Amino acid sequence: MPIYEYRCAGCSNLTTVFVQGYQGKDDIRCEFCGSTEVKRIISPVNVHQSSSEKLSSYDPASKKSESFYRDSRNIGLHAEHMLKKAGVKPTEEFKTKLEKLRTDPSRVIKDSDS
Ligand SMILES: [Zn+2]
Repeated sequence: MPIYEYRCAGCSNLTTVFVQGYQGKDDIRCEFCGSTEVKRIISPVNVHQSSSEKLSSYDPASKKSESFYRDSRNIGLHAEHMLKKAGVKPTEEFKTKLEKLRTDPSRVIKDSDS
């Protein structure tokens, strides 16, 4: 079951929501002050998921949410998946570049420009 965390714009407390099926944003209320001015933040469940777990749970056919693309840790996941499927071991260079992209996307963009 997906778990989302929302930060309240009013009192900045976190509200954890277990999402069952589709739930409109209007249904989410701050647990502390009841405000609906809440913003979804990246779930801690995903944060603690390791790269290999991410890769094994990655499904190229599934529809990606907007947050999937916003999460820099998902950069290169598709490439990794394709390599694994083809039985190709990613090179160290590939892995290093991927790691850099995931941790500091802006620096890598600058690096490849020069
Ligand atoms: Zn609040």
